[in-house]
Amino acid sequence: DQSVYSSLPVLGGDVTVPLVTGGEVTYAALDYAASAPALQRVWDDVAAYAPYYGSVHRGAGYLSQLSTDLFENARKTVAEFLDCRDDDQVVFTRSTTDSLNLLAAALPADCQVFVFETEHHASLLPWRDARVTYLDAPRTPQEAVASLEGALAGRDPRGPALVCVTGASNVTGEIWPVRELAAAAHAHGARIVLDAAQLAPHHPVSVRELDVDWVAFSGHKLYAPFGSGVLAGRADWLREADPYLAGGGASRKVTRRTDGGVDVEWHETAARHEAGSPNVIGAYSIASACKALTGTGFETLVAREQYLIDTVRAGLAEVPEVRVLSLFGDDAPRVGVISFVVEGWNSSHFAAALSAEYGIGVRDGLFCAHPLVRTLLGSDPQAQGECGAPEAGPGERSLNAIRVSFGAGTPDEHVERFVGAVK
Ligand code: PMP
Repeated sequence: DQSVYSSLPVLGGDVTVPLVTGGEVTYAALDYAASAPALQRVWDDVAAYAPYYGSVHRGAGYLSQLSTDLFENARKTVAEFLDCRDDDQVVFTRSTTDSLNLLAAALPADCQVFVFETEHHASLLPWRDARVTYLDAPRTPQEAVASLEGALAGRDPRGPALVCVTGASNVTGEIWPVRELAAAAHAHGARIVLDAAQLAPHHPVSVRELDVDWVAFSGHKLYAPFGSGVLAGRADWLREADPYLAGGGASRKVTRRTDGGVDVEWHETAARHEAGSPNVIGAYSIASACKALTGTGFETLVAREQYLIDTVRAGLAEVPEVRVLSLFGDDAPRVGVISFVVEGWNSSHFAAALSAEYGIGVRDGLFCAHPLVRTLLGSDPQAQGECGAPEAGPGERSLNAIRVSFGAGTPDEHVERFVGAVK
C-alpha cells in the first residue's frame, strides 16, 4: 500500500526534467543507494530550527544552550535508533567513510583486521596501516561465516582484532549474516564493526541484538541532507586512542610546560573525536530522520520496500538479456538495491538512455566496490576502471554495471516506468 508513504514524503517528488525525445517528465530518483532524497519532515525540522542555531558547547547565550541541548539530544536519539548499549558512545562524523577512518585511526597497536573483498571501498580501504586479511567473496551467507571462522581460527586470541562487514551490499542489496559473523568474531576474541550505510535506511539495526561493537552510517543515505554521519559503539578503543582531529572541543585542558612545550588533556567522551565546531544541523537532521523512520515503523517500511523489490526483480526477470548480479542467490533477504548488466549494451550508455529518454536517475559503474563488481561480472581482476565508466567494446563482457535503488518515498510509478523502460 503506497499510501504508507503519504506520511513520509521526500523532497524532489515533483521536479520535472527535459527528455531528449521532447517534452518533460517528473524525475524518477532511483539512486537512493548513492544518496536518498531528504525527507520533507527532516527539511521542515531543519528549517524550523535554522533561525535559532548557534555554536554548541561553549556559548553562554540562550541559542547556544538550545543548540547544545539539541546536539546532545541528537546523540540520544541516534543511540535509541541503533538500540545501543548504555555505555556506548555516539560520535558525529562527516559520513560512513569518515566514521570508518576514525575507527581505523583508533585501532590498538598490532591490531589485525579481517575484511571481505566484497566491501565498499569505505570499509575495504581505511585499514591500510593495520595487518589486513582480505577474504574472498563468499557464495552463501553460511560460506561467509565459515570463511571468517577459518581466518580467525589461526590467530592468537589475546591480540586485538577487528572484523569489518557491510550490513547490506551497495551492489547486490543482499543482507549479510551480521549476527552470525559477530558471534564468530567474538568467539575468537575479535571485535566487529558494521558498515550500515545501506542497511540502516531500510532495516532496523539493533546493536544489542546483532551484538556488534560499532556501527557506522551516513545521514545522506538515511534521508537527511549531506555532511553528517555516525560512529556508534564501544567507548574503550575510542577513549584510549589519540583524537581523530586535534583541536578545540577535543581538548579539556591545554597548558604551557616550564620547558616551553604544551601539555594536552583530551576529553574521554565522544567530543574527543569531534574537534572543531560541530555540525549541529547535520546531527539534528540525522536525529530527525531517525525519528521519522521509527515513527512510521520499519515493519511498514520493509513491507513496502519488499513490494518494490519484487516488482523490479520480476520485471527484470522478463527480459532475457538482463543479468542481475547476486552473490547469495534469489532467496537472500535484500534491500532496495539491484545491480544488473544488459547483454549487448554498454552499461554507461544504458544508464544514460534511462535518464535522457525516460527521466530516470540510476547509476552505472563499479559502485566504489571494484573487487566485488569484477568478481560478479567475472571480469579480469586487473581490468582498468575508475568508479566512473569503464567501457566494454563490442562483443566484450561488461566491465561495469547498472544499479537501481529506491526506498521511502518511491512511488509505484517510478519502478513501473523503470521496468517499462528496460523492457
Ligand atoms: N559503505 C557502503 C556500503 C556504502 O554504500 C557507502 C556509500 N556508497 C559508503 C560506505 C560510504 O558512504 P559515504 O560516501 O557517505 O561516506
